[in-house]
Amino acid sequence: MTSLTQTDWRSLARTLRPRRQAFIDGRFVDALSGRTFPAYNPATGEVIAEVAACDAADVDRAVRAARRAFESGVWRDLKPAERKAVLLRWAGLIRENLPELALLETLDTGKAIKESLSVDVPSAAAAIQWYAETIDKLYDEIAPNGPSSLVMVTREPVGVVAGVIPWNYPLIIASWKIGPALAAGNSMILKPAEEASLSALKLAELAQEAGLPDGVFNVVPGLGPEAGQAIGLHPDIDAVLFTGSTEVGRKFLEYSARSNLKRVGLELGGKSPHIVTADADLEKAAMYVAYAIWYNLGQTCNAGSRLIIEQSVKERFLELLRPWAQRLYPGDPLEPTTELGALISAEHLDRVRGYIELGQREGAEVAIGGRQIGQERGGWYLEPTVLVGVKNDMRVAREEIFGPVLSVLEFDRLEEAVAIANDSPYGLAAALWCRDISTAHRTARQLRAGTVWVNAFDHTSINAPFGGYKQSGHGRDKSLHAFDKVTELKTTWVELH
Ligand code: NDP
Repeated sequence: MTSLTQTDWRSLARTLRPRRQAFIDGRFVDALSGRTFPAYNPATGEVIAEVAACDAADVDRAVRAARRAFESGVWRDLKPAERKAVLLRWAGLIRENLPELALLETLDTGKAIKESLSVDVPSAAAAIQWYAETIDKLYDEIAPNGPSSLVMVTREPVGVVAGVIPWNYPLIIASWKIGPALAAGNSMILKPAEEASLSALKLAELAQEAGLPDGVFNVVPGLGPEAGQAIGLHPDIDAVLFTGSTEVGRKFLEYSARSNLKRVGLELGGKSPHIVTADADLEKAAMYVAYAIWYNLGQTCNAGSRLIIEQSVKERFLELLRPWAQRLYPGDPLEPTTELGALISAEHLDRVRGYIELGQREGAEVAIGGRQIGQERGGWYLEPTVLVGVKNDMRVAREEIFGPVLSVLEFDRLEEAVAIANDSPYGLAAALWCRDISTAHRTARQLRAGTVWVNAFDHTSINAPFGGYKQSGHGRDKSLHAFDKVTELKTTWVELH
């Protein structure tokens, strides 16, 4: 790692030639229409590549290739150990290509190179490896039905699975979809976000090098209303695994209803409550509250965007938070010591700033940050921000801002905190800081969220399921539960005469 931290990322960036074509049926190809769209570097506002803009015709081509590969059995009928070996090779190649993948991720999303190197790329490799390792370890079931029947319950791949993913963690979220889909023997089509397609195209190159047969893994970059919608409506895709906004998630349910009732896995937005009681370890909690909202500039579906703090310690807690806002100050993402980079786009920056102004109009006050910075670099930077005096019925407490903006709410009794936490259309994650173990367990049960952290935030592992209650989605990414959306359960009933 020492050599990577000393790498001159700016020079490397100048020599990088990102893949920009779609990857269909084992070949890099232009969109049939010949159209492209620009990929921007959020740190500078510059165009870094013109990427193939796939539409319905390209999606159809990818689906045909994926279907052909699936029906031929080149992948699903491999011996489990053989399929495992290919995916393990892929995970190994991702690790070997750490510098290039990390650089692509940073240039395309504006996130700090330090994070791309230490979190995004290693996590993606680890996820693919983890699912690879399950392939020859998962057994099927026999349903007990007496001595004269043999009732087998087996899992089979659904067929063609599509992943439609966002721009905030392109490699990590792709790996959460790819891992279970390919481990189960499906073929796959991946549509990365318009804002961040480059690392997915590099993944495709490495998939081929690892020995994935043609057509098993395809990448169709393009715009949501074109490539994304074509995936949603395609009659020959069996399942879509979507991560993104609740609004677009809703569309995928409609697409499914209007087409072939394909399965839809939804990992959507959040407004995660972070409850801190007066008896908690406040110093530690402050560090976690800071990272929970400011890591990746709050562009995280489970960001701890609502701090629900016991009134008696609010002022002290804000003082503990202040140095973290300084320490996590955004800078040039290619500088190895930078903690936070730039927001994804100029439109997104405007949207987040709009929420800060809206909060003030609603009666909240900016206690920390709030200003756009770094204009001289040409990119889209915003200070870590804290809004105080927020009430839970304000839009800044109810809507996903997806930026570095913490809304602070107060409580006197813990029941009040739980009521505020649960009073949200979302239920992706929640956290509680307190020292009493009974209170911790009781409260964890009361919180309506797919993940509840006690005395932590964002601790994560590929073997722990991740997904939401309520309008944060349904189905789970990660863990063995992720196989549910990409496999069919077959009952085979044999009578022994
Ligand atoms: P979207 O939900 O719009 O995008 C997610 C994916 O869906 C992208 O690949 C996108 O393609 C695609 N898509 C967009 N519109 C359609 C459509 N009509 N039909 C089919 N597919 C479509 O997220 P955004 O990137 O636009 O971000 C908007 C907001 O969504 C954020 O500010 C945040 O609140 C939330 N969000 C939540 C995420 C999470 O992790 N839960 C991740 C990202 C965003 P394309 O990008 O090319 O348009």
